[in-house]
Amino acid sequence: MLHWLFLAFLVPRCTARFGIPSSNATVDVKAFNVANVTATLAGVLLQPVLPGHEAIHLPLHAFLVEHTASKKRLMFDLGMRSDFLNLAPSVSSLFQSGVYAVDPFKDITQLLEEGGIPLESIETVIWSHSHFDHIGDMSLLPNTTNLVIGPGTNRSLYPEFPDAALKASDFAGHDITELDFDATNLTFSGLPALDYFGDGSFYLLNTPGHLAGHITALARVTPSSFVVLGADTGHHPGQLRPRPDFQRAYPCPAHLLAESKTAVSTQYFWSPASHTNVFDVHSRAQPLLSVPDKPNSGDADPVAARVSLDKIADFDADADFFVVLAHDLTLLDVLPYFPASLNAWRGEGLKDEAAWAFLDARNPAFRFSPGA
Ligand SMILES: [Zn+2]
Repeated sequence: MLHWLFLAFLVPRCTARFGIPSSNATVDVKAFNVANVTATLAGVLLQPVLPGHEAIHLPLHAFLVEHTASKKRLMFDLGMRSDFLNLAPSVSSLFQSGVYAVDPFKDITQLLEEGGIPLESIETVIWSHSHFDHIGDMSLLPNTTNLVIGPGTNRSLYPEFPDAALKASDFAGHDITELDFDATNLTFSGLPALDYFGDGSFYLLNTPGHLAGHITALARVTPSSFVVLGADTGHHPGQLRPRPDFQRAYPCPAHLLAESKTAVSTQYFWSPASHTNVFDVHSRAQPLLSVPDKPNSGDADPVAARVSLDKIADFDADADFFVVLAHDLTLLDVLPYFPASLNAWRGEGLKDEAAWAFLDARNPAFRFSPGA
């Protein structure tokens, strides 16, 4: 009997809840913020958009992942290329017209080399999806670097297809693997999963909706804690939070509970237990922001995108998982960036620090009352 009790304590809690097999195999995850993009049309990425918040600031996160046992290295996303006017015209035109703006920045390849990571040591690049702000410039990586893409990724190339977002140089010379989630029996939080290294250290999850081929990564950084690289399943933490399970696991700090009563506009955000003109985040069961449902939004399939986001939110509400969205502005003040590692996020309290930052009116991600 004592033996069984002892064993029960050794089994990570997450295993039962999400069906993730136990493993002691881990990866090391290091984050970069490659560039800071301003998009003038926040309404294609989230809703509602309040007056004065028509623009949205988007950091571009990329991740160096190193398999602890084999020291194999991969990149999950690359940010965007610094010579962005050389993107396919359907994308570069958005910078020329001012829909997007970005200050000068260095390519991820330069950041890696300056950080002492030889590009030859990057065995694989995984694109969460093929949008310009995730694919970097594959021509700057050696041909020995492989490319992994999600199922159904649109491989149409400019100029054969005038509206295509990709060019031949995005693929040329690299071995390309398109993931096949039909080949797996694993499902976590309702998401089909592939065991990338075959030892439970790093999984790729099928999270469709934002764009054909959109995937998420689940990195085991200790035997019982994970970083969820959520890519573009959401563009703002207010699309994940608050939800009831999340509020139980991560109660809103008292000062934000008090301040948000008047800081959040009741003209745009309803809450069940609120009095007239007083917002009550504690009784709010839905995230403050949602995936847009209007035509021509930033999500190829808004209905599927919402389902993927809801499934990722399951991880967000669990203390063993730290969800990191590619464009979460609140993370800039929270994450230790390369060469630091994210692996000790739980002990360092990173998730606790990030959880409610979006609701703080002093945070640049706050967009819940009309702006100046
Ligand atoms: Zn995207």
